[in-house]
Parts: sequence; structure tokens; C-alpha cells
Amino acid sequence: MNKIKLLGKTPAQLKEIALSCGLPSFAGQQIAQWLYKKKVRSISEMTNLSKAGREALSQGYEVGAIVPEEVFTSADGTRKYLFPVRCPVAAGHDEESVVEAVMIPDGDRATLCVSSQAGCKMGCKFCMTGRQGFHGNLSAADILSQFISIDESDQLTNAVFMGMGEPLDNFDAVMTVIQVLTADWGFAWSPKRITLSSIGVLPRLKEFLDGCKCHLAISLHNPFPDERESMMPVQKAFPLAKVLDLLRQYDFSGQRRVSFEYTMFSGFNDDKRHADALVRLLRGIPCRVNLIRFHKIPDFPYGTSPAPVMEMFRDRLDAAGITCTIRASRGEDIFAACGLLAGKHNEKDSI
Ligand code: SF4
Repeated sequence: MNKIKLLGKTPAQLKEIALSCGLPSFAGQQIAQWLYKKKVRSISEMTNLSKAGREALSQGYEVGAIVPEEVFTSADGTRKYLFPVRCPVAAGHDEESVVEAVMIPDGDRATLCVSSQAGCKMGCKFCMTGRQGFHGNLSAADILSQFISIDESDQLTNAVFMGMGEPLDNFDAVMTVIQVLTADWGFAWSPKRITLSSIGVLPRLKEFLDGCKCHLAISLHNPFPDERESMMPVQKAFPLAKVLDLLRQYDFSGQRRVSFEYTMFSGFNDDKRHADALVRLLRGIPCRVNLIRFHKIPDFPYGTSPAPVMEMFRDRLDAAGITCTIRASRGEDIFAACGLLAGKHNEKDSI
């Protein structure tokens, strides 16, 4: 019998579980402390619960933290962890996969790039994760494990939902994780330490914006609808113009920020026409644009734009009043950079 995972439960839910196991109601708070403050891996470590209570709890429940099966360290200090997961893909049918979490050190910051799904349904042509198809949604416990089970767990300062998968396509689990990360009874992080990246899954995007104060990054990549759709099928279902209309209803001039990710493909989306169209499109939204160097993948016609072209593009946006940066690439030697997350042990075999 599969045990129910405690990770991801709120103190109210843990109180009900405690009562059902013959523990006092305040044990719910105690269990939350063990899970989210002390980050224990097993119920037997919850030593302020009675022995009989721990045994009763262990009958049907487990902490649910998965441990990484492998870790790679880049020359620049970036560390990629591989987590084995079992995800439900159909009624009564689980699939085994491997997902990745990438820890990126930068001065006094340590950012965790988190995966929310095994593979992805969205099918962006330039993305290794998209190419492997969809292998299931991660549970809140699977996602929280990426925070808890890595060597740098206590040093983490920030998190970005930019790993494998489209986070808004696994909405409930991702919002549960955000609740645990930001609640006083959980990690007690400020929402300003968290950024969710999405290609713009519209109904869920509104729920995310209404449901928390975390930062948002939108994968934009091309200002022209037909060209964007040729790379990102989501454009057909959720056109970028509608995503931007929604964003215009929210305030991004204060604490909460929105940024736009723009991967530079040589000869596809990197000329002055694109830069000027992007400026027109983003008019009225206080934002930042991040230009991303593309990491070549097999059977894909474009390479990355040369540095002078990226600088021209950045300067054109800057001159129009849009803050634009060329994002430094991290962890490329261990295939941890943007678009290269494929959940394999060594993607060199497939590239
Ligand atoms: Fe999915 Fe993001 Fe890759 Fe698109 S870029 S296929 S949304 S993981």
C-alpha cells in the first residue's frame, strides 16, 4: 500500500491526520515544524510525538521526501541534482522518470531552479524538456523535496519555477508549494524571493496573480504571432496579446515584478524589426526583458545570435525605456542551462 505523503500538508490538514492517529490536536503544529523548519526525512525523527503516536502515523503516512540519485557540479559552481520520481499518468498507472533541480550560486545568493512536471506537454520546439513529451505532474512533496533534499537546502535564498515543465499546468501542486514556502508555519520566505516562469496559460495565470504575490516571468521569444506560434504551439490557444491584456490589469510598478524571457535565435527573432515590435507590444507594462543565449540542440535549424546582435537588441530596448539585460549562462558544461533540462544522466549522449 502506498503511504500518504505528509510534505505539502498544511497545519490544519496535519491536525486532522494527527487526530486520526490518536495524537493530540496540537501535534499538527509539531509535525509542521518537523517537516518545514527542521526538514526531517522520517517520522521516527519527530521525537516530541509519543512513540505510539509515531508508530500509528507511520502505518499510513510517510514524510515523502525523495533524495537525489545523482549530482553534477559545474566549473562555475552550479549544481544539478537528479531526482527519481513516480508520477500518475492515468488511473492506476504511474510512470517512473527523472527530474532535475539546479542550484545556482551567485555571490551571497543561492537560487534553486525547480521542476514542476516530468517532461512537458507544451511542445516548444527549442526545448529539450518539451521534446521528451509529458510523463506526469509532480506532487507538492516531489517539488518540496527539491528544496529539502539538496546539500545547499539551508543556504537557499531564492527559487525560480523555471525547470522542467510548465508550472501553471500543474497549478494545484505548485500553489501548495508556494503556500508552504511563504507561510509562517512553513519556510517563511517573502514571496519576493520566488519567481514563476510561464508561457502564459491564461486562466491559471489570472489565478496565480490573484492567489500570491510572487514575481512572474513570461516566456515571450517572439513579438509576431505567426512566428511565435511556429515555435510555441501555446500561442494558438493563449495568444500573447491576451496574456499582455491580462498583465495590464495588475500593478507591476511596486514590489511585484514581471519580466519577459527572450531567447535569441540567429536569423529568426533577432533583428531591429523584432526589437521595435517588442517595444510596441510591451508599452505600458513596467517590466524587464531578459535576453537568453540559445544553447544549440539537435535537429533544430537555428543557433544563438552573435554577441554584437544581442547587444544591438538590448540597446534598442534600453533606448526605448525598457530595462533589458543579457542573461549570463550558467551550468552549460553539465547541461543545466536554460532549455537543456531533459532529466537524463548525461545529455551528451543525445546531443
Ligand atoms: Fe515546456 Fe517550458 Fe519547455 Fe515550453 S519551454 S516545452 S513550456 S518546459
